[in-house]
Amino acid sequence: MKLMLDENTEVELQIEAHKVKNLTIRVLLDGTVKITAPISMPQERIFEFVQSKKNWIVKQQQLQKNRREHAALKNAKGPRIQLLGKTYHAVFKPGAKEGFELNQDDMILTAKDETRIQLVFEKQAKLMLEELLNQKRGKLDLIMDDYRLNHPEIAIKKMKGKWGSCTPAQAKIVMNLMLIHLPVKCIEYVLIHEYMHMICPNHSKRFYELIENVMPDYRRYMKMLKEE
Ligand SMILES: [Zn+2]
Repeated sequence: MKLMLDENTEVELQIEAHKVKNLTIRVLLDGTVKITAPISMPQERIFEFVQSKKNWIVKQQQLQKNRREHAALKNAKGPRIQLLGKTYHAVFKPGAKEGFELNQDDMILTAKDETRIQLVFEKQAKLMLEELLNQKRGKLDLIMDDYRLNHPEIAIKKMKGKWGSCTPAQAKIVMNLMLIHLPVKCIEYVLIHEYMHMICPNHSKRFYELIENVMPDYRRYMKMLKEE
């Protein structure tokens, strides 16, 4: 039922009669005022009580409204997204200038509309992967020097069904852009794997020995990749 607290303030009232001694009052999340009253208490008395609590009710309703808005904002957050093995909550932020920002567990993607955020993410993913591969390739290039092989060119592409590929004759390695979702060690394993194909094109015992020389615990990461 509705109750006017004053000329401007109307509240939704929910009254339950129980075998209780005292009247209790609560403001629910949707702003409804819930009263639990002794069975014998006349409705008039209940209304009087609610009227006397007007200021408190208005304050509680505001608090509940804040709570609802906070919850709505949380639900408005996009899907979970993995970046270098850490989980973030993708958050779309409307803005003229495209941008990417990490804030604790949030990945804030700024774009003029929501259809662009995948592109914003992929652009950033490519930059991050490039930087990581540049960091990790140094010691592998030294191994190429030992074998008098060219330093391979590394390209990053979106690929289906494989994490990386190597064409030794062209000294070319392609790394899957989607690797950005995985932990750094897994990405490093794929890079080493493709580099070692420059020396040994098949998946022979020797090939894996070459990998093991660079990354003794490579089996762990190879296994993690297979589970992806
Ligand atoms: Zn291979």
